[in-house]
Amino acid sequence: MKNIYSNIFSFNRKILNKTIKYLKSERVVSLPTETVYGLAGNAYSKNSIKKIFMLKKRPNYNPLIIHYYSKSQAENDVIFNKNFSKLYKKFCPGPLTFILKKKKNSKIHSIACANLKTVAIRFPKHRIVRNILKRTNFPLAMPSANLSSKLSPVKALDVYEDFKKKIPLIINGGVSKIGIESTVIDLTHTPKILRPGIIDFKKIEKILKIKLKGKKFSSKIKSPGMLKKHYSPGIPVFLNQKYHDKKSAFIYIGKKYINRKSFFSLSEKYDLKEAASKLYITLRNIKKKGYRAIQIARIPLNGPGIAINDRIKRAAK
Ligand code: AMP
Ligand code: MG
Repeated sequence: MKNIYSNIFSFNRKILNKTIKYLKSERVVSLPTETVYGLAGNAYSKNSIKKIFMLKKRPNYNPLIIHYYSKSQAENDVIFNKNFSKLYKKFCPGPLTFILKKKKNSKIHSIACANLKTVAIRFPKHRIVRNILKRTNFPLAMPSANLSSKLSPVKALDVYEDFKKKIPLIINGGVSKIGIESTVIDLTHTPKILRPGIIDFKKIEKILKIKLKGKKFSSKIKSPGMLKKHYSPGIPVFLNQKYHDKKSAFIYIGKKYINRKSFFSLSEKYDLKEAASKLYITLRNIKKKGYRAIQIARIPLNGPGIAINDRIKRAAK
């Protein structure tokens, strides 16, 4: 039988070399990270960046996150500051993205930053992507490997679902541990969270020793890419639900409805970090089972619960 997933590969030395060869020749590949799977291209290459936007059907005003192996790789492209150094020391590599001012002579292609004077940078932790970043002499522009406004992928097959054979190579690195996108913090002025994530307000406030802005999540778009409708599973989503309507899938946290048909718990032990990591998998799973709508119970607004609420709110738009 023909292997239909012939562009999904396990990671080994041969694939590492192939990936680097592809990236150097301005091709776009999908890589696992600890947050979600990314669609990666050379951040210094106009061709690579254009391909990423085209493949994702991403609007050109929505800038990409640029990924580096370490701080020293990034120093020619962005202007560091004290808050960055503090957070880098504590959380990097890891699921935290920094908005910093772009250096005048930075080689990052301006289309990657939607022509802004700022750049979003991240230092991912996943072993495979770090292996690759260590061996390229350019950073990787890498948004999530999904079609614009759809759910982010947390495994190689999710990527395949959206792009099929349109990308030459998808590296299978297992299920992404964190399972939701990185926290985005703007450090160009008074620090402000633009997108909540697993590294939450309290953790950042403790390191910076300040009170953070951006805690109230209004529906106003604060970051160019914070499109209102985003992370959509493709069927209607209803929030803060108390009662099951007897036909939709019902998502909740805990084990109150354990083993009951149509009920899906994000974490039986009521761990919000686990709940965040299960969110996208559960939404995809429900869609595949053929449900026509999703009800979601109230999710507490603290710690990772803030990030979960942010994503489901936009999934519900
Ligand atoms: P994604 O690549 O899909 O994880 O999304 C990246 C997020 O980072 C988007 O919401 C972007 O709007 C945001 N972002 C990237 N660059 C910038 C920037 N220079 N200023 C503000 N937000 C940014
Ligand atoms: Mg995305």
